[in-house]
Amino acid sequence: MRLRNKPWADDYMRENNHVVIENPFQYKGNWQAAFDKDQPLHLEIGSGKGQFIAGMGNQHPEINFIGVERVKSVIVGALKKVLDAETSNVRLLNEDAEDLRDLFHTNEVEHIYLNFSDPWPKTRHEKRRLTFPAFLDQYKDILKNEGKLTLKTDNKGFFEYSVASFSQYGMIIEEISLDLHEMNDPLNVPTEYEEKFSEKGQPIYRCKAKFW
Ligand code: SAH
Repeated sequence: MRLRNKPWADDYMRENNHVVIENPFQYKGNWQAAFDKDQPLHLEIGSGKGQFIAGMGNQHPEINFIGVERVKSVIVGALKKVLDAETSNVRLLNEDAEDLRDLFHTNEVEHIYLNFSDPWPKTRHEKRRLTFPAFLDQYKDILKNEGKLTLKTDNKGFFEYSVASFSQYGMIIEEISLDLHEMNDPLNVPTEYEEKFSEKGQPIYRCKAKFW
């Protein structure tokens, strides 16, 4: 199957617009209106094919989840996983998370997840890393007081950069794991990338931090 330009993708998303939200900007400040229940909101940036967000939706019916993924041919995979999981507390946005303040009001989100974000290893691309201070400004704005951020990656350089960035920003580092799977966290929901890299024997890094 070709990954790009899936012609049926638009139809599939439209048919399931209770999950993939059309015109999500209308919900800014009122996201509970897009869900069945009024409960805490967690956000994943760059959801990929959706194994994490669908799994988290199942594991935590007491939380509403939003996954943002900019690539249409990828987000349709996430849509399928969410439908298969039969969770009613997950919504997907086919958007570029360029400025999350366009989508979320101050204090609207309780937790942000960055899973295997593009590491952008070249120094000249530092500004594109999702843990660059300008992104942390956005996260701080949309997160509630003491809102949390959890990052998982296989990329050591990106991990070190991110932990330093959190720390320099004044965030509180709550947990660092240099080999998540060694830790055997029963609540960990692995992502597609996570499975792929750990099958190759690569350690998975995780950092939990919070703003204050
Ligand atoms: N989280 C998934 C996918 C990781 S790959 C997993 O762990 O398996 C990173 C994903 O982030 C890609 O699908 C890419 O399209 C998406 N992405 C990167 N930058 C983004 C942005 N600014 N807005 C939305 N999605 C983004």
